Amino acid sequence: MLFADVIGHEDLKKRLIQSVKDSRVSHAQLFLGPEGSGKMALALAYAQYINCTNRTDTDSCGQCPSCRKFMTLTHPDLHFVFPTATTKKVDKNPESDLFVTEWREYLEDCKGYADLSDWFARLDIENKQGIINVRDAATIMRKLSFKAYEGEYKVAVIWMAEKLNVQSANKLLKLIEEPPEKTLFILIAENQEELLNTIRSRCVMLKVPKLALDDVKNALTDRLGCDPQEAHDAAMLADGNWLLAQRYARDKEDEKLYANTFQKWMRYCFKGALPELIDFVANDLKPLGRERQKEFLEYGLNIFHNSLLFNNNMSDEVMLPTDEKAFTQNFAPFINAKNVTQICELFEESINQIERNANASIVFMDDSCKMSKLLRIK
Ligand SMILES: [Zn+2]
Repeated sequence: MLFADVIGHEDLKKRLIQSVKDSRVSHAQLFLGPEGSGKMALALAYAQYINCTNRTDTDSCGQCPSCRKFMTLTHPDLHFVFPTATTKKVDKNPESDLFVTEWREYLEDCKGYADLSDWFARLDIENKQGIINVRDAATIMRKLSFKAYEGEYKVAVIWMAEKLNVQSANKLLKLIEEPPEKTLFILIAENQEELLNTIRSRCVMLKVPKLALDDVKNALTDRLGCDPQEAHDAAMLADGNWLLAQRYARDKEDEKLYANTFQKWMRYCFKGALPELIDFVANDLKPLGRERQKEFLEYGLNIFHNSLLFNNNMSDEVMLPTDEKAFTQNFAPFINAKNVTQICELFEESINQIERNANASIVFMDDSCKMSKLLRIK
């Protein structure tokens, strides 16, 4: 991947390039930033740049044998570790190496903008939790103990480092502390709190912020051919998340689903009619599947947040498409200081429960009953 193919982040690119020019590449770096900000894309461009034999001041050449192999993710000195779980194909002892073909295909399809729920969906492990296994740590240790085959640096990209369990993290620590010569670890993570302290403290952190609105907007028009207004709306809604922006732009109809479903749900909650709610949960919410149920609840949290903006005369800051903005403006008076904390906690807890494989019908029925009461608090 070229730096030119990474959306935005011009300052970070300069910083990374400068570190190579100054020969002060830290051997363990943590790229920390929100979903869809482009951490993996930056990591791939950085790894390619370091090993390019004909790099310029601003990018790798894209032509040399090293670049070609990096671009097809087949360079023998580029290693990946990522969360996995058992699947139909690998029914025991999963580890990254057993999924390397699927992984390369996935990274090529998403053009380096990787996302955990998309990856799990690709592996068809939607209802299981993927982790980075201790077997992964052992394998990467073994691989890195060899000299670099062809490149200047051996690069190990550990994607979603918060999914390292304690055992695998401990095994990796030693390696990160005393890495073999010319080895670069790039750890990628989204949630600093979920990351083990021992790992975090041993890495140089590069904070990757969410993308700027204009960068997302321009990428949508340049890369996906969106018209400027559509690109603007999608970029607003995506709030710096390129994955969301693409999704919004590519499949507007589908994205409307969360809005429509949420509006319908809140209306049923207002009415408090149990039979309707039971039907709604069974027919509209349950079929979404776990990852989308979580996204749907996150959408709800966003509406509550925007309701507060309306209530505090900050409607200029509401980042929603016109029709959803109109709904939220009408809905806002029902969200107030007396119920907002409980409502948000309820949704956050539901996200946690769904993540832990709780029965979605029970979670959503419980939410429905509680919301019916909470929305009545004045
Ligand atoms: Zn090159």
